[in-house]
Amino acid sequence: MGRPGRPLRRPAGRAGADIVLRPGRDKPVRQRHPWIFSGAIAHVGDDLRDGQVGTVRSAEGDVLGQGYVNRRSQIVVRMLVFGAGQRVDAGFWHERIARAVRLRPAPPSPARLVHAESDGLPGLIVDRYGDTLVLQSSTLGIDTHKADIVTALQAVTEARTVWERSDVDGRDKEGIEPVAGRIAGAEPPELLTVQERTHEGGEIAVLVDVRRGHKTGAYLDQSDNRRYVGSRSAGAEILNLFSYTGTFALHAARGGARHVTNVDSSGDALALSERMAAENGFGASIAHERADCFEILRRYRDEGRTFDGVVVDPPKFVSSAAQIDRGARAYKDLFRIAMQITRSGGWVACFSCSGLVSADLFQKIVWSASLEAARQARIERRLGQASDHPVLLSFPEGEYLKGLFCRLD
Ligand code: SAH
Repeated sequence: MGRPGRPLRRPAGRAGADIVLRPGRDKPVRQRHPWIFSGAIAHVGDDLRDGQVGTVRSAEGDVLGQGYVNRRSQIVVRMLVFGAGQRVDAGFWHERIARAVRLRPAPPSPARLVHAESDGLPGLIVDRYGDTLVLQSSTLGIDTHKADIVTALQAVTEARTVWERSDVDGRDKEGIEPVAGRIAGAEPPELLTVQERTHEGGEIAVLVDVRRGHKTGAYLDQSDNRRYVGSRSAGAEILNLFSYTGTFALHAARGGARHVTNVDSSGDALALSERMAAENGFGASIAHERADCFEILRRYRDEGRTFDGVVVDPPKFVSSAAQIDRGARAYKDLFRIAMQITRSGGWVACFSCSGLVSADLFQKIVWSASLEAARQARIERRLGQASDHPVLLSFPEGEYLKGLFCRLD
């Protein structure tokens, strides 16, 4: 690779070269990390428009691969191909998408079909709900190649509808506006119904609002963990904090829970949750409280109310390194009180979806919470994002969801 005189080499920094790195900044790219920050870049050719794919070279002129560029972003290049030889054309998008789809469970399971960097498609998320696909682009590069991507998705999946939910945080950092709406095919119904598998191989009906729901409509990343909670719920009285549309509660109820209380601050989420509980036949055993989870935990503790199991699945508390300390305290607060109101022999399922909170730090947070609660806790099961949200070893940032299922003495 990169021996003098090879035709791949050309003088660095020359006008017309696509993207050239500064001396000594090629190592992460050679290690297949897909992001190139502005500080590593010496030159972006004038011919290359933001959003387009260009060839990336080291300062010495070696071809490192190809990526799409956006000078407005801190991450100026996101790599699509490493090394020389592969072209990024319509066939490229088709091949990458086909590979990602092949690795997922077969329809009709709801599934994340494309998990961005981890599937070699930085900036792109695609979730499947029945014959509706929901696409989420967080970058200009994906926006620019959307037509090829949608053609590939339709060819590979035979979806009836492709809906867009690119109204996601982070697009402002790319200098692009939020976009949402129909891309291809029929209008989706107001609510889609999909079946989520239970731990015993049964099914739970999940209603998904692709227009107004969180993320692409549902939290598919928790599906394995919901099954685990379902398997540990027989006879239990359960508190499901940050419940959204209550899918954890449905798995718990199906797993034999005596009673589940869902708590969320969103009235819309709870309204859908009530409907889902009724449709699955658990209207009588699942209750709903619209409240702030921090407040309701304190209230339950002060009232002496206790539970056999508590799920704590808060939103992302940490979005930047500067927020780690504050976020860690907020997680610890929640987990501490959750443990205080858990009966002896019961469990807490603690989660963090903040990518910047490492698995190590997360375990320390749960440990401190147990010390402050004066409860002996043991990890019964480490939990994480579902297997349709894989993590590329060269992109550990792709692992964001951590969970510990702890049994308390
Ligand atoms: N456990 C859910 C996903 C939870 S997402 C599932 O498996 O589907 C986080 C939820 O927390 C959102 O529904 C949001 O409305 C809610 N939320 C955020 N802050 C809150 C707060 N302080 N109190 C109660 N709910 C909150």
